[in-house]
Amino acid sequence: MAKSGDSCTFCGRTSRDVKLLINGINGAICDECATQAYEIVKEQLGKKKSKLDINREDLPKPEDIKKFLDQYVIGQNDAKRYLSVSVYNHYKRLLQDETNDDVEIEKSNIIMVGSTGTGKTLLARTIAKLLHVPFAIVDATVLTQAGYVGEDIESILTRLLQAADYDVESAERGIVFIDEIDKIARKGDNPSITRDVSGEGVQQGLLKLLEGSVVNVPPQGGRKHPEQKMIPVDTKNILFICGGAFDGIEKKIAQRLNTRVVGYAASKDTAQVDCNNLLKYITPADLKSFGLIPEIIGRLPILTYLNPLDRQALRNILTEPKNSIIKQYIKLFAMDGIQLTFDESVYEFIVDKAMEFKLGARGLRSIVEAIMMDAMFSMPSENKKELQVTLEYAKEQFAKSDVNRLQVAG
Ligand code: ADP
Repeated sequence: MAKSGDSCTFCGRTSRDVKLLINGINGAICDECATQAYEIVKEQLGKKKSKLDINREDLPKPEDIKKFLDQYVIGQNDAKRYLSVSVYNHYKRLLQDETNDDVEIEKSNIIMVGSTGTGKTLLARTIAKLLHVPFAIVDATVLTQAGYVGEDIESILTRLLQAADYDVESAERGIVFIDEIDKIARKGDNPSITRDVSGEGVQQGLLKLLEGSVVNVPPQGGRKHPEQKMIPVDTKNILFICGGAFDGIEKKIAQRLNTRVVGYAASKDTAQVDCNNLLKYITPADLKSFGLIPEIIGRLPILTYLNPLDRQALRNILTEPKNSIIKQYIKLFAMDGIQLTFDESVYEFIVDKAMEFKLGARGLRSIVEAIMMDAMFSMPSENKKELQVTLEYAKEQFAKSDVNRLQVAG
């Protein structure tokens, strides 16, 4: 009998029968057994990874999800609540006992309506940080009906596959945020007799995805071509969150509310309509008059809205979020050993300018950038260890910058 260390503990072959024998403390393994063991490890761990790696007890509750969102997104309470509940229910669906099919929890896809720059994408991105499922953001403007220039609808799922490292099982439980969904609205309320390439055809295509079906996805995205090998993906458990500005939808809401006022003149509710924020009265009927087909609306059962950002919201966005613009600049300077501080009046000035040029939250960064440009350029080579940004300094720097460029950017 071969002495210990001279044969593989797993298959028993001696060093003469194998290419390589690796010795351990109490045994040895040959090259073939090691390779096989590696394959088993890879397969088992791979399986574990694609399962939802979270227990029911560890699920973040809607309130936890909202608290997390609060750290990064200012205001928008309604949207946050809807989103939190919807994501929580999505998890519960994934964990539901498949053997007990009596009551099947249905998908709760969401649609968020709000002006540009009010935080729709930010909400989606933030929620992605907290998730244990793959997440992808896609833009509906690039989608076209099959056979036309642009991207096929299935390419939406390519992004999700990429986010899941092409692990199909895990992608099939993911979340997709479709931005600018309003851009695929049908032009006009009446079904067009001419072909509506960018509108209804795309909506019909999208319907297939939202409904839950097996879709052939081009692994590299873009357009499908015959030689490409497709990956079948089942969308039954994929959660879709849609967002759009729906410019002009307020008019449709107002019209509807007006008719109601005429019809029920005595109704107390309508007497107190908040005309500055008509979006909060949005209903699926308004989405239909905007040009979404009823089938799509039916597949997006949760409808929520984002508030326009007022002065106070802009002021908070500047400094309150965990990674607020001001905190980011303070960090940038700290990396050069410079302590950066701002006078309170500077914040007010920045918000004033954002309001004046109608730049919204997106403009805040450009304005701070304009004020800080000179200092960011020269201070790293100087010996100064402190910079206090006063109102006077901010005004002077801002005046030097190309204000018109900011206006165009907005
Ligand atoms: P959209 O609604 O067009 O998707 P975004 O989410 O892209 O708008 O917002 C643009 C930028 O404005 C964000 O990156 C963020 O810096 C800022 N912003 C907008 N809304 C908020 C908000 N409610 N809280 C914090 N920052 C916001």
